[in-house]
Amino acid sequence: MLYTENVGWRWVFSSALLTNIGRSVLPFAEKAFCGLFQQLFPDDCRVCGEPLREVSRVPVCRGCLKKPGAILADYFCKDCQTPFLNRFPLDENGRCSLCRLGLNGFDTVYTFGSYEETLRELIHLFKYDRVRPLKKPLGRLLARAIPTERAFDLVVPMPLHWRKRWSRGYNQAELLAQEISRLRGLPVAKIVRRVKPTAPQAGLSNSKRRLNVRGAFKIRKGAGVKGLRVLLIDDVLTTGATASACAGVLKRAGAKHVAVAAVARTDRRISLEWSGNT
Ligand SMILES: [Zn+2]
Ligand SMILES: [Zn+2]
Repeated sequence: MLYTENVGWRWVFSSALLTNIGRSVLPFAEKAFCGLFQQLFPDDCRVCGEPLREVSRVPVCRGCLKKPGAILADYFCKDCQTPFLNRFPLDENGRCSLCRLGLNGFDTVYTFGSYEETLRELIHLFKYDRVRPLKKPLGRLLARAIPTERAFDLVVPMPLHWRKRWSRGYNQAELLAQEISRLRGLPVAKIVRRVKPTAPQAGLSNSKRRLNVRGAFKIRKGAGVKGLRVLLIDDVLTTGATASACAGVLKRAGAKHVAVAAVARTDRRISLEWSGNT
């Protein structure tokens, strides 16, 4: 068995070894191995359903892992990077109304793709179906969204409330933060706590989401962020209300710069297009 960086453990056979094993043993060995193999590894890609041709800890084919593309738009807010269909929501400095009014607690946002199609399915597998090895491919996509020329001092994962972390068994943002830490050579610091088990944000308006997460975060005692440039990691950015509340706590504790980085963001241009409201 060999270990390769990209896909984890692979089985490799030596032909000399095979000739040394008696031919009569082979059919049995082959059958036993296939049975074991199918028990240990799913045989179809969990996204497209095509049979998997390689053994990997990630039950998704190469094609599906390569599929997600970066979010594209002609108009983005300069600060929060929200994509827009036209330039009207942006002021003369290229900022959206939330950023213009100072309602976002972060300084900037980096996201890789739209929370749609294959990328959405990969994140669902990672977050809800406990496919933790997806942290590597998803971490690589996230790293592509963060400009290499931007310097940071700390990587901070978006915290989960302890009850949610306990029921899921892990914090998906923490796994992504570990990947970014490895790829960018930065320390991970779990310095923010989620002290309020907030109600689910789905279905709430933007202003209600902001109220819902008010007071949800606290800095851990003794954690120093004064003058530091923080990269706050999350899996998905929806309205940015949660990220904004968490970033606000870091800024109030003295962080010099807080950038939010998420693998995907919900693209509201899609729902606007469907409703014909362009
Ligand atoms: Zn596939
Ligand atoms: Zn903005």
